[in-house]
Amino acid sequence: MKVDFHTHAFADAIAAKAIATLEAELPAGVKAHFDGRVGTLAAELVRNGIDAAVLCSIATKPSQFEPIMKWSSELRAGAHGAEAARRIVPFLSVHPADPDAHRRIAQTAAAGFAGLKLHPYYQKFVLDAPETLDYLRCARDHNLIVISHTGFDIAYPRERIADPVRIARVVEALPDLKFVATHLGAWEDWGEVERHLIGRPIYIEMSYAFDYLDDARMRAMLMRHPADRLLFGTDWPWSRHADVLPRLEALKLDAPRQAALMGDNAARLLGLQP
Ligand SMILES: [Zn+2]
Repeated sequence: MKVDFHTHAFADAIAAKAIATLEAELPAGVKAHFDGRVGTLAAELVRNGIDAAVLCSIATKPSQFEPIMKWSSELRAGAHGAEAARRIVPFLSVHPADPDAHRRIAQTAAAGFAGLKLHPYYQKFVLDAPETLDYLRCARDHNLIVISHTGFDIAYPRERIADPVRIARVVEALPDLKFVATHLGAWEDWGEVERHLIGRPIYIEMSYAFDYLDDARMRAMLMRHPADRLLFGTDWPWSRHADVLPRLEALKLDAPRQAALMGDNAARLLGLQP
């Protein structure tokens, strides 16, 4: 099974504007590879043989919870086509500063969504702050997966708000939380990942790391980490399956590890049937 644990897509009416707004914040030359529409994502999943993808919406203010939930529910119900409904697993987004966060986390679980996406830069919070731990404890109590952007962000100044030391603190405080660190543990902070995360029981998704560190080092990190904690991800539309899949193959991980990373771990976490 092949599962992409980290994708983004938008409602057709706002996709062009959303991509343009995001690109405006990025360094020159960093562009989306696709239009960011959910139908385009579904077509790319089909074309590249990806069985399922976690869709990470991000509420940049608390009021966006409702429209994201509505859109995600419609997606699951087939409003964006049968392939999108079959393959895309939408995660919701409860803003950490939302006074109703706990109620909305409960609502997410009650509606049958598998998890939540967090982004410390876009949502302006510190990963291991006491109030964030309250939020994460609530997600754990509702058995929700939490995937968070971790490490630095290409569009923001380098503040240590979601770095490996903080990730390790979260996992120590809440060992039963299904917490997923993105970008090979922490984007562009891989020395700290090697020091504090690799080898420990922490889910690590590997998107947007090729091109930012050398392949030998990436392979060594993936080989040293517990095989049952590795997840494949692309950060689509910011990278392409057609580019990432062959590069991952070329690392020549052993077959069981490759299968675990490529989808078996994700299928287990998400409760997907092959
Ligand atoms: Zn992302």
